[in-house]
Amino acid sequence: MSVLEVRLVPHGDLRRPARPVEAFTDEVRQLARDLLETMYAHDGIGLAAPQVGRDLQLFVVNPSRDEGRELVIANPRLIPGQGRTSLVEGCLSVPSVWARVRRAGRVELQGTDLTGRPVGIQAEGLLAIVLQHEVDHLEGRLFIDRLPWWRRQYLRMKGTRTVCV
Ligand code: ZN
Repeated sequence: MSVLEVRLVPHGDLRRPARPVEAFTDEVRQLARDLLETMYAHDGIGLAAPQVGRDLQLFVVNPSRDEGRELVIANPRLIPGQGRTSLVEGCLSVPSVWARVRRAGRVELQGTDLTGRPVGIQAEGLLAIVLQHEVDHLEGRLFIDRLPWWRRQYLRMKGTRTVCV
């Protein structure tokens, strides 16, 4: 396993919609292990393949931070459910920016595991938020894109040039 280099804004890899995983090869499983190791090395609770420059619809999450409770999801599709929630979010690819983001309170996620077998997850709370954050990464979207315009303007004034794209 190895800790991979995390792409930071304004790197173009963060802005491209990722390709679906078509073959669940040893390389893809190795990438999943490296994503987990990289996520833990940076004390994160989620990491998506485009953040390490890999063009694949694959991410790992572990909101509990408990070993053995990791989720590895490929080719996800997200169905927003009832309610709204918000949390102050950060991102390993957007250093030094923390901002409250409004998202769906509950979601249903359909995807596959590392063998290509379908998985379905009903999530609420922190897991629902993290899943939405990671699926955004696979679509080339960052949490700062979801902030109101005046908040983005403020971040730009503070010198975070990368928030307006
Ligand atoms: Zn992120």
